Amino acid sequence: MVDLKGQYSQIKDVVNPAIQDVIENTAFINGPKVHEFQKNLENYLDVKHVIPCANGTDALQIAMMGLGLKPGDEVITADFTFAATVEVIALLQLTPVLVDVNPDDFNINVEAIKKAITTKTKAIVPVHLFGQCANMEAVMDIAKAHNLYVIEDNAQAIGANYTYANGEKVKVGTIGHVGATSFFPSKNLGCYGDGGAIFTNDDDLAHTIRGIVNHGMYERYHHDVVGVNSRLDSIQAAVLAAKLPHLDSYNNKRIAAANKYDAAFKNVPSIETPVRNGDVDNHVFHQYTLKLKGVDRDALAKHLNEKGIPCGVYYPIPLHQQKAYADERYNEADFVVTNQLVKEVISLPMHTELDNEQIEYITSTIIKFING
Ligand SMILES: *Cc1c(COP(=O)(O)O)cnc(C)c1O
Repeated sequence: MVDLKGQYSQIKDVVNPAIQDVIENTAFINGPKVHEFQKNLENYLDVKHVIPCANGTDALQIAMMGLGLKPGDEVITADFTFAATVEVIALLQLTPVLVDVNPDDFNINVEAIKKAITTKTKAIVPVHLFGQCANMEAVMDIAKAHNLYVIEDNAQAIGANYTYANGEKVKVGTIGHVGATSFFPSKNLGCYGDGGAIFTNDDDLAHTIRGIVNHGMYERYHHDVVGVNSRLDSIQAAVLAAKLPHLDSYNNKRIAAANKYDAAFKNVPSIETPVRNGDVDNHVFHQYTLKLKGVDRDALAKHLNEKGIPCGVYYPIPLHQQKAYADERYNEADFVVTNQLVKEVISLPMHTELDNEQIEYITSTIIKFING
């Protein structure tokens, strides 16, 4: 699905000495590399504060802790996402409220959010699934009208732009009150281990969060709030600092590969290629996900694996049907789209090193299977 080795071979000459440097300096935790990467990412995203942390799941959890959400507060998020999003809501004893997504862009459905709001609702967590921003203008309007926080799960869309109706562009993850991302190796900006970060333009929230990631300390050995230990280590920061200047070109390579996939499937009626909202740089294709109409998805997946083509089903089970998150409050009629998507979606290899020959082999194998 990804070719991390191919990408590494092209930046080896920068990454290796950067890692070596960290080792020589022994500043493994909170070293200068972490600060350097933080500043570079703030500039890149045009956001006031980046707070690096240990992984994307922590980033979401810490964002919610920073906002002071309390047990029993309801948090609305998408039914069709990676479990980390809902996991941290539940861990903090907040009440997850899963809602349906759009059939075209797979992102949280705005009408479903409106329907789910109660007097206990405190926050909305839109997930920018597969690399494309949710309808943030509408989400922010709802949040404003109901006095809710918006926490963007930007684990899959770092570097993507969001274009407002008036044409103004911003980096995804910097629109809500707080954004969270992951630097898991296969993400669009991945390190060589675990890593994550929180973004915000709010000075007070940034200050609160900087304490939370460090055991609730704002002054050494003074623990003002209950915190966690969540740090980006210096070796990962060195990798990320070396890779960040390439992020736009990495994302452009993904977009170019997606365009080639699209072209190959253009005349195949049983394949729906991914919908893009807005401009070409609004979808950075963390995943390239097809919807199959009248095709046995699992048989195709098996066939692709036999032909040496990796593929993935993101995600095979809606969160509201997972044992950990099932709840009698949920009604299947409210999850028509997710229930359908889990049967139809398939994600193809997507990374920065995909070449024409690979794309041609993948697409022709799929089309041959479908045409029998
Ligand atoms: C990867 C991912 C996360 C979690 O990130 P980790 O760094 O693996 O903890 C959260 N949300 C979404 C949507 C993700 O894809």
